[in-house]
Amino acid sequence: MSEKRPTKKINAKAIMTDLKEGMTDAQLMEKYGLSFQGLRDLFSKLVEAGLATQAYFTRRALEKVSPPEAEATPTTCPYCGFTAREKFTRCPRCKNDTSEWLDTVELTKILTGSFD
Ligand SMILES: [Zn+2]
Repeated sequence: MSEKRPTKKINAKAIMTDLKEGMTDAQLMEKYGLSFQGLRDLFSKLVEAGLATQAYFTRRALEKVSPPEAEATPTTCPYCGFTAREKFTRCPRCKNDTSEWLDTVELTKILTGSFD
């Protein structure tokens, strides 16, 4: 029984906070003791739980390819293409909600599972 891997419990709120603070995949993997695949699985669970959108993680992955620009990362509206230097969560032009974060009423939900 000692071989049995303990189930990792990751607080969804904590990891969402880390994501918003810009932690890299490597930092997240180290902090939560996840493999690369485990982290991907976790991201999938966050999407399934409605805490973040797949589009967010897709964009996040793309952003890693190019060097991060701490400032002046333009925000582009996915609906109408409006781009602004400042980050906006509601498009000034078409008024659509462009926040990559969905309603987080269930943010305190604890995600459970084996992430490895
Ligand atoms: Zn727009």
